[in-house]
Amino acid sequence: MSISENIARVQGQIAQATTQANRTLGSVALLAVSKTKPVEAIEEAIEAGLRAFGENYVQEGVSKITHFQRRGVALQWHFIGPLQSNKTRLVAEHFDWVESIEREKIAQRLSEQRPAGMAPLNVLIQVNISQEGSKSGVAVDEVLPLAEKIATLPNLTLRGLMAIPEPGKGSEAFAQMQALFNQLKAALPECAIDTLSMGMTDDMAQAIAHGSTQVRIGTAIFGARQYNKN
Ligand SMILES: *Cc1c(COP(=O)(O)O)cnc(C)c1O
Repeated sequence: MSISENIARVQGQIAQATTQANRTLGSVALLAVSKTKPVEAIEEAIEAGLRAFGENYVQEGVSKITHFQRRGVALQWHFIGPLQSNKTRLVAEHFDWVESIEREKIAQRLSEQRPAGMAPLNVLIQVNISQEGSKSGVAVDEVLPLAEKIATLPNLTLRGLMAIPEPGKGSEAFAQMQALFNQLKAALPECAIDTLSMGMTDDMAQAIAHGSTQVRIGTAIFGARQYNKN
């Protein structure tokens, strides 16, 4: 199947899951995760109408962003991978969103390094929801304190939460995330908290049933990824 056929199928699945959850059609955004995929694949996705792309690796993301900027295509780029402090400047200078904030220091650097004249960087706190396996993300009881600090940073806009539950633990983890998202909105009513990023190729319907407002889909759109080891 072609990328555009894949996108149509994924959009249909999102619409179906949204309706089944008694939610408003259009309330779940599709972020196309294009990591490891060439610009030609992204071009196909753009032709099929997508505008928001997720990247995990800083250099790869920046070179794609630059490529499409030169060609005058307006896109929205989300950084969704682990971020080290020596790479924050490149991210602050090029991306529109960072979904993987897990430390105050990283947030501070991103705010300081966001160029004047660019819109504030939209950020999500990544939550470590199914504790054991992955070490990525903030523990549940550290989310509010970190959110309060991010809310004071001038060049960031806190938009919500992101999570990658362990495979198989989806339902319970997604329900916990939904509760935490509601707590965050109530705790920081002055912030524009509107984004709960959860759900990938294998668990997007479950995530939508638990209030996801953005699914991050790679494989179902672009096919399996091949990682080069040279
Ligand atoms: C790779 C990745 C995805 C996409 O996963 P698929 O299973 O290919 O849909 C989503 N979110 C994050 C954070 C990722 O790293």
